[in-house]
Amino acid sequence: MRQINRIFLHHSESPFSTTFEDIKQWHLNRGWRDIGYHFVIGQYGTIKIGRPVSKIGAGVYHHNNDSIHICVIGDFDKRAPKTKQIESLISLLTRLRMKHDVKIHNHCEYTTNKTCPGRNLAGMLSFLDKESKRPIRRLIEVILILLEKIKGDK
Ligand SMILES: [Zn+2]
Repeated sequence: MRQINRIFLHHSESPFSTTFEDIKQWHLNRGWRDIGYHFVIGQYGTIKIGRPVSKIGAGVYHHNNDSIHICVIGDFDKRAPKTKQIESLISLLTRLRMKHDVKIHNHCEYTTNKTCPGRNLAGMLSFLDKESKRPIRRLIEVILILLEKIKGDK
């Protein structure tokens, strides 16, 4: 397993109706072998898995080797993220940070010519950081995983 040192947030900078498949196609058209992101959150909060976390993604130039990329669909310079998207993002971040206890970063922190993940999502960084680290949430997550495991054992 590669070393994970940070999690990056992105937006698709496109309408809410954009799909995982659309983004994948954009990236394939660039000549990439797969979608660049590890996770994509759709307008209704559905989390789709892109590249496996074990594989290096493509999201931030020079900072892909040790990072996980999450893309939330929408243009958050113009619009606000939907509640369902934020809920899914927090739950995904909680799960990821149980395994990789690392900081969350906005893509724009690492580049000068972009606002990604859009100012309305970028401004939520400290909220997302705090919410996805709440101990009670962790406890719930652990219980859910244990329950899943029990179900799987039957
Ligand atoms: Zn980005």
